[in-house]
Amino acid sequence: MTNISENLQAVRSRIAAACARCGRDPASVTLLAVSKTQPLAHILAAVAAGQYAFGENYVQEGVDKIAAAAELDTRVALEWHFIGPLQSNKTRPVANAFSWVHSVDRFKIAQRLSEQRDAHLPPLNLCIQVNVSAEQSKSGVAPEALVELAEHVAALPRVRLRGLMALPEPSDDEPLLHARFAHLRQLRDDLNARGLALDTLSMGMSHDLEAAIAEGATLVRIGTAVFGRRS
Ligand SMILES: *Cc1c(COP(=O)(O)O)cnc(C)c1O
Repeated sequence: MTNISENLQAVRSRIAAACARCGRDPASVTLLAVSKTQPLAHILAAVAAGQYAFGENYVQEGVDKIAAAAELDTRVALEWHFIGPLQSNKTRPVANAFSWVHSVDRFKIAQRLSEQRDAHLPPLNLCIQVNVSAEQSKSGVAPEALVELAEHVAALPRVRLRGLMALPEPSDDEPLLHARFAHLRQLRDDLNARGLALDTLSMGMSHDLEAAIAEGATLVRIGTAVFGRRS
């Protein structure tokens, strides 16, 4: 088994080095450990190494793991983020098991999450996923449609719009990656200039977290570099 504790240390060091290069405080970047397809034992190994925030992509797998983890004494409260594609008929379990959803790309999804979020829970934190690669196949709202969607989502009662998420096309082209991430930051700044108060830029994965941090990421979603290759 890969050494999750060592991997986490290495990722934290990469985050710290990336922050140092652009004069940012490492505390301004949250590490989200993407635990999709990983068994609970691997998540618990990460928890033992000081990790508390986890990202899941698949509704049933995520809900099952959250329930199983809740049965255990993990000492620290775990924070669960839903980061995968979400169909409108699957919103109900997500609305109540998770505390964040990063993949909102249309109003109907946000509206259902708001309606279905239990009144005794704090508002569900949302990010809107933006298609900054302009590829037909990618999910995410088109940049041109973002302002209208963001203003509608921000007005919903049981959710709190926190920021934007992007999943650019995989690439080794550094300038291209920087341009994609800078685009997302610009869109966030434009929304804030219109009166929204978005504090989150969810961007950067195992292979491109340095570029994302240089362009202002406040949360990086790291799977492979923490848990090893997915089977
Ligand atoms: C799987 C996944 C990640 C993590 O990717 P790695 O390359 O393994 O770090 C991040 N974000 C999303 C949306 C994912 O689906």
